[in-house]
This record gives sequence, structure tokens and C-alpha cells, in this order.
Amino acid sequence: MRENDNLFQIIRANGRFCDAKGYERYQTTKYPDKRMVILACMDTRLVELMERAMGIDQGQAIIVRVAGAQVQHPFGSVMQSILVAIHMLKAEEVVVVGHHDCGMQCMNTHAFVEKLMERGISKQTIQMVENSGINLENWLEKFDNVYESVRSTVSVISKHPFLAETIPVHGLVIDPHTGKLEMVVNGSQREMVLEGIV
Ligand SMILES: [Zn+2]
Repeated sequence: MRENDNLFQIIRANGRFCDAKGYERYQTTKYPDKRMVILACMDTRLVELMERAMGIDQGQAIIVRVAGAQVQHPFGSVMQSILVAIHMLKAEEVVVVGHHDCGMQCMNTHAFVEKLMERGISKQTIQMVENSGINLENWLEKFDNVYESVRSTVSVISKHPFLAETIPVHGLVIDPHTGKLEMVVNGSQREMVLEGIV
């Protein structure tokens, strides 16, 4: 490992952190104090900004981060995390947080395939994946409008057969520069979401 490698720097920072007992101020339980699970995007601009902008501190919420803050499949890993948070980790509320200028917004499937090929992944490999039934266009789950994407994700979560009716699912959109939030769905009015009114 060279000194300017990220991995080297991580290990070195970790030594300093542990020696200084930096962990002491982060002690908490695995149960979220605010009894909520947040589904957000993995965007670097939100890493700390989102929590600060929402007034959430260490230990107060479970945060699931995935590109685009979407649920790709009702029985995929994102929904699994949300359901585990609710049924095993005492969360009682779900908050979906989409954001403006998301990398998944208007994602170009063709450009994605070109990036794969630039990395040496052959056309044959890509075709083999497509021939096995993976539609890259659908798989990438790009979206055009962040508000519609948040509404759709809230709807998928709200309608899940394993989600108890007492669990509200909210939808918000955050500005990745200012942290300003906009309310898209107030999950306390769940009946309206289920009926497609909101
Ligand atoms: Zn994003």
C-alpha cells in the first residue's frame, strides 16, 4: 500500500480515531430513537448534508441509501432493509427522500453501456446478459421527474403486503446544495396514497 492510497489513508485514520476514542460520542443502540427508516440516494452531496438538514443525529434513524432512492423490486434488498427496519428494529415510519439533479434522473442507457465497454466489458458479455432476460433500460430504473419518482416509490412501499397499515410512508425531495426539503407525500394520509390521489 502506498501512502496516498485511499485504503492506506483509511487504515491510518482509523488508528487515530480509535486511539483518541473518537467512537465514544457515537455510542447508541441499533434501534432508531426517532423510530424511522429513511430511504435516500447514495449521492455524495447528501452524505452528511441530508441528516443535518433533517435534524437527525447518530442513532436516531435507520438510513438506507441506494442510487435514485427507489425500490427496484418489492422483494429485493432495498425493500428487505425497510421491512427489517420496521419489524426487527422498531421503526414505525418510512421517509423516502429523493433529490434534485440525481444521477438516475434522465440516465442514458446507451451512455452506461459505452462506459461498460470502455472498462473492457465486451459487447458479447452485454448481449449475453440482455439475452438472459435483463432489460438494461428497465434495470437501470432511470426516472424523468423526481416528484413522480418519489410518489411512485412511496406507493410501492405503501402497498407492500408485509407493511402494516399503521406505518406511514412519507415522500420528500431535497435540494443537494441547500438542504431545503419539499414535502411530496404526507404519509399520515395513507388512504389517499393508496387511492392514487396524492
Ligand atoms: Zn441521486
